[in-house]
Amino acid sequence: MTLKQLHDRYGSDLCRGCINSLCHAELERNDCLYGNIYPERCDHCGEMRNIVKGLRLSGKLKLLLK
Ligand SMILES: [Zn+2]
Repeated sequence: MTLKQLHDRYGSDLCRGCINSLCHAELERNDCLYGNIYPERCDHCGEMRNIVKGLRLSGKLKLLLK
């Protein structure tokens, strides 16, 4: 799974918690890149969360196996 596939399937603004539950992944804060310091609404859970805009290599590798 890649972040792009997740975005195509579930929406373009997803929080880390949703990505983890959708992929059964264990992304940690440092695996993710955040676009803004303030929270935005997550397309999946509808909560105001920090939206994951990108993944560091460690995060990409974790998702790749899912
Ligand atoms: Zn969410």
